[in-house]
Amino acid sequence: MALMMQGHSRCSICEEILPEGASLFATSGVWLTNSHPLFRYCDSVMHWNCYATWEGRKEFARSYAEFCAENERSNPYWGMAYLDRRVLVTVSPSRKEIKVMPFSTGLEYSVGFDGWQAWLKDPRQVYQRHPLESETLAEVLPLLRRHLPHPDVVVAAVDWEAKQRLLDEEERRNEAQQKAHERSLEEHNERCSLFWNLFQDKSWACPKCENLEFRLSERAGKKSFVICRRCGAMFSGTESEKRQFSDPN
Ligand SMILES: [Zn+2]
Ligand SMILES: [Zn+2]
Repeated sequence: MALMMQGHSRCSICEEILPEGASLFATSGVWLTNSHPLFRYCDSVMHWNCYATWEGRKEFARSYAEFCAENERSNPYWGMAYLDRRVLVTVSPSRKEIKVMPFSTGLEYSVGFDGWQAWLKDPRQVYQRHPLESETLAEVLPLLRRHLPHPDVVVAAVDWEAKQRLLDEEERRNEAQQKAHERSLEEHNERCSLFWNLFQDKSWACPKCENLEFRLSERAGKKSFVICRRCGAMFSGTESEKRQFSDPN
């Protein structure tokens, strides 16, 4: 959600301070380019009343819902169970939660699996804020009752194989990152160890404090360093460090 402090932040439509306890509409993320006329409303907070009666609302809400639908495609944990021009429904089996976002408000309703059927029958407890909410839900509820009457149906409507592919890709990326990290650590430590060997037959002085005594710090899984015993300066044998030692100025 947009960062806001009630009593301090301003409504992006009427620009008045948002009082504590006000009914608000907020979006998170920036999905419009900065030349778009509605750009400044992204990632902002508004009075529900300002939002509900705002002439830009439909276009803004639709663009927000489309952005959320697009985000879903790259999210391995939430699956899209339903999408048409009016409503987006996503589901997370691990959280046992269903999210409903009507396109004409961009408002997101989170409903637990155990409350889904009751909510489909009567979502009144959540739409007290403005008549626009009840109108919008009245439009999409018959559709949801028909297509997604039970949480099992909602879960079954998702292409989980595509989500598994996303998870597999994520795992492959993590493994590759881990390997790259290990490789770079190995290279660093090899270089440091060769550098340490050079110290054995030279009387190099620390370029920072001119002290002649050093120690090698080596620990499994950590970067090794040659450390000056007096000033604590750390070296790993980079080319520029080697020049400082062999050619002090
Ligand atoms: Zn306002
Ligand atoms: Zn030193």
